[in-house]
This record gives sequence, C-alpha cells and structure tokens, in this order.
Amino acid sequence: MNTVWITGGSRGIGAACAGELAADGWQVAVGWCSHPEKARELCDRLNLLYPGKALAVQTDVRSTQSVQDAADKIRRQFGMIDGLINNAGIARQQMFCDVAEQDWDEMFDITAKGMYRTVQAVLPDMLHAKFGSIVNISSIWGVVGGSCEVPYSAAKGSVISFTQALAKELGLSGIRVNCVAPGCIETDMMSGFSTQDKAALAEETPLGRLGQPEEVAKAVAFLLSSRASFITGQTLGVDGGFGR
Ligand code: NAP
Repeated sequence: MNTVWITGGSRGIGAACAGELAADGWQVAVGWCSHPEKARELCDRLNLLYPGKALAVQTDVRSTQSVQDAADKIRRQFGMIDGLINNAGIARQQMFCDVAEQDWDEMFDITAKGMYRTVQAVLPDMLHAKFGSIVNISSIWGVVGGSCEVPYSAAKGSVISFTQALAKELGLSGIRVNCVAPGCIETDMMSGFSTQDKAALAEETPLGRLGQPEEVAKAVAFLLSSRASFITGQTLGVDGGFGR
C-alpha cells in the first residue's frame, strides 16, 4: 500500500491533492500547520469514502522537530512513506524595498528549508527501499518572476533547481523528483486579490480563467504515480498557458 505525505494539506491545492490521491488508492497523511479542524474535517470525509486511508498530522515545516514527529506518526500508522508532496507555502505581496529581513527568512524557511526538512525525514527509507516519488510545488512566479513578489519568486525558483539537482542525485536509487508550477489558482492564497485583480489575471491567462485546485491535483497525482515512471527532474506548468 502506497503512503503519501502532503504538507499544507489542510486547504487549497494540498487538500485537493489529498482527495485525488485517496481516490487513486494512496494512504494519505494530511499535514496541517494552523488549521487542524480543516485537516480533520477533510480526513473524516475521506475516511468515509476510503475507510482508514486518511490521517491528519501536524506538520509545521519551519520546525525540524515537528517534521520528524510527523514522519514518525505517519510511519506508525501507515508504514513506509513512499510519496511526498512539498506543498506548504505562504505568499505576500510587497514592494522589494519594504521586504524586512525576517519576511525574507520566513519565506525561505517555509519554502526552501521546509522542503529540505521533509525530504531529509523520508529519504533514508526511500533509499533503503530504492523506491519513492517526490513532487514539489513551485509557482509560475518561480519560472518567470512576479513583480511585488521577489521573495516568493526567488524561493519558488529554488524549488525548481532543488528538484532538478535532487532528481539527478536520486535517479539511480529509483527515486523520482518532479515539480509542478501552478499559475493563478482560486484558493485562500488569492483572497487578498480584488475581483478586478482576479479578472485581470484571468484575462492574461490564455485559457481565459483562473485555475481550480483540483486541476493542479490531477497533475500532481500523475507525476507522483507510476504512470510517470520515466519522468524525473521536470517542472510541469499547470497555468492555463500563463507566462509561456
Ligand atoms: P493556501 O490555500 O493558502 O494553503 C496554504 C497551505 O500551506 C495550508 O494548508 C497551510 O496550512 C500550509 N502552511 C502554511 N504555512 C505552513 C507551515 N509553516 N508549515 C506547514 N504548512 C504550512 O495555498 P494554496 O493556494 O493551496 O497553495 C499551495 C501551494 O501552491 C503553495 O506552495 C503555493 O505557493 C503554491 N501555489 C499557489 C498558487 C495559487 O494561485 N493559489 C499559485 C502557484 C503556486 P494551515 O492552513 O494548517 O496553516
């Protein structure tokens, strides 16, 4: 039985991934940071559909201890973790000259170092089994850069190069590492945007609309699965053509 750990699984894209992967037959560990109730509600719903398949697990990717504790809890419940989705993220729109050092550090702590912590926690088992699949969530801004989102764009760019380098290092160990770069997706992360801003972003998107979390989750589920068995080191844009 395959087990996937999704950071930031309580809401948005992570929650959609949990639904998609549980439907695909995975045991799903839904990581939450500050919204345990949302993660538990989601797991209750999934466990009604797929009994015993979902577990809510506190995972604050800023803390090595929290990440290690979460990995131990998942292994006790489900056994080896052979799938990992590094999805936890924050966004903040600011002019670069207003970015305080602690804002910069927080962005990289969650986005880049968070990924370091979770991969460190699952890799020994994957290396031992010579099997595993990791999908990291970047962003279109990590590919093309976004004005007023310099820390976010820089951190999301690092997700792509992390993916490429780790994929090269782990290929012979039978572990695949891929990345998904979403465009503008309707989640809480976009709640700070006005209706007009969203309409402008939709207009800039060749498909003429914003994306839904479920549309990202389908791409993540594909890359994570054995259907993508000869794909590694890639970044798949799920962006309606934005920025291409
Ligand atoms: P969201 O709805 O705001 O959800 C963010 C998730 O990250 C929540 O589950 C939250 O958990 C979790 N999180 C925040 N800080 C965390 C921490 N320190 N440790 C662990 N988890 C933490 O965002 P979303 O739109 O689904 O975004 C998911 C990913 O897609 C992010 O990496 C984001 O950058 C990326 N992305 C989103 C878009 C978009 O347009 N929405 C576009 C490109 C890329 P709690 O709720 O439990 O705190």
